[in-house]
Amino acid sequence: MQAVIIAIGDELIGGASVDTNSAYLSRCLAERGIVTASHVTVGDDAGRITEVIARAAAEAELVIITGGLGPTLDDLTRQALASAMGVELIEDARSAKRIAAFFDRIDRAMNPSNLRQAMIPAGAEALDNDYGTAPGIAASLGQVKVFVLPGPPNEMTEMFERKVAPRLPAAGALARRILHAFGSGESDIGERIADLMARDANPKVGTTAKGGIISIRIVATSQTPADADAAADKTANEIRHRLGELIFGQGDQTLESVVGEGLKSGGMTLATAESCTGGMIGRMMTETPGSSGYFLGGVVAYANSAKTAMLNVPAEIIKTHGAVSEQVADAMARGAREKLGADFALSVTGIAGPDGGSPMGQADEKPVGLVYIALAGPDSTKVHRHIFSGARDIVRRRAALTAINYLRLVLMEY
Ligand code: ATP
Repeated sequence: MQAVIIAIGDELIGGASVDTNSAYLSRCLAERGIVTASHVTVGDDAGRITEVIARAAAEAELVIITGGLGPTLDDLTRQALASAMGVELIEDARSAKRIAAFFDRIDRAMNPSNLRQAMIPAGAEALDNDYGTAPGIAASLGQVKVFVLPGPPNEMTEMFERKVAPRLPAAGALARRILHAFGSGESDIGERIADLMARDANPKVGTTAKGGIISIRIVATSQTPADADAAADKTANEIRHRLGELIFGQGDQTLESVVGEGLKSGGMTLATAESCTGGMIGRMMTETPGSSGYFLGGVVAYANSAKTAMLNVPAEIIKTHGAVSEQVADAMARGAREKLGADFALSVTGIAGPDGGSPMGQADEKPVGLVYIALAGPDSTKVHRHIFSGARDIVRRRAALTAINYLRLVLMEY
């Protein structure tokens, strides 16, 4: 089953309120295996609302509308739905009674305009609102089920749970998996699993990118939990197979926690020497509880003198090659490994920007975003050169994650 969710209100399209109702409803529908085809936001304009409802009914089997059920003249959802259905609005006697009783209860005189809220399209059913005055509406447009819920989120969620959810088709069984990848762009990953991401496929596969990490969501629906689990696992395995070592974890795992587990299981330790990342790797590596078991410590060596004093980087090397160089990254990593007595040491030196780079095209070209990352291990030290694009914080985070990822890849060999 596919759904369209329509949020109504000038305050939404004007930016005064944020549409949280649609997000909530999409999540609830997804839990029931119902796919949301689209969210539509429309202002308080009866003609437009009617158009949007008719279009939604042509493309989905379920339409859920929120907002515009108030007592004022600019609340036009009822009218628009009646037009889309080609029927008149009629008063629902039970709702009129409930609205009158509501005002009695709060000891306030009812304005006649409040009775406008008891008007529903002929042939539709009013849904009681226990938290406010506006009843919701359940209606049909041909084979399409239409529900209208009040705009205030507390009224909307309560009515959805109590009045709408029980009328939706039985959920069937649902199984979710989430895999995390690092080291390639979302479009590249998307291309490698494009066939699995077909719109109507089951399991449904989608990707999201956040801070350089690409997460791949898999949702399988089936008759039984065992079938849904099997389908989700089969797709997850296929994706793992195709993306190989780009996949670093699943579920709640982070790059840092995976590297932490790798160090712990091998009984190995890590130290860091950071310049442009300013301690970010150290902070990330210590976010996982129990990290004291493998993370020995880190040096933030920003100034050249600090690199020499704390990491034994020879001043000569810095003078000859510059602080942002392969040689200095190499010396920083080896220095940290020795000083802290760790099995591995990661170092980062680079130009995070926005200033500090030299123009492109020069012989000693060192553009903003140039970062050297070194990993010193028991057998050797390897230096990697990167040019990251983006603002300062993006360059720094990308550099820190890339460094941690190098350690992950090396740990896979142990
Ligand atoms: P009522 O009669 O209780 O006012 P209503 O259905 O007419 O209900 P609206 O007037 O459209 O609701 O909206 C009332 C308030 O609910 C808005 O001011 C807004 O803060 C909130 N609201 C409306 N729609 C949404 C939405 N999609 N997401 C989040 N909040 C919303």
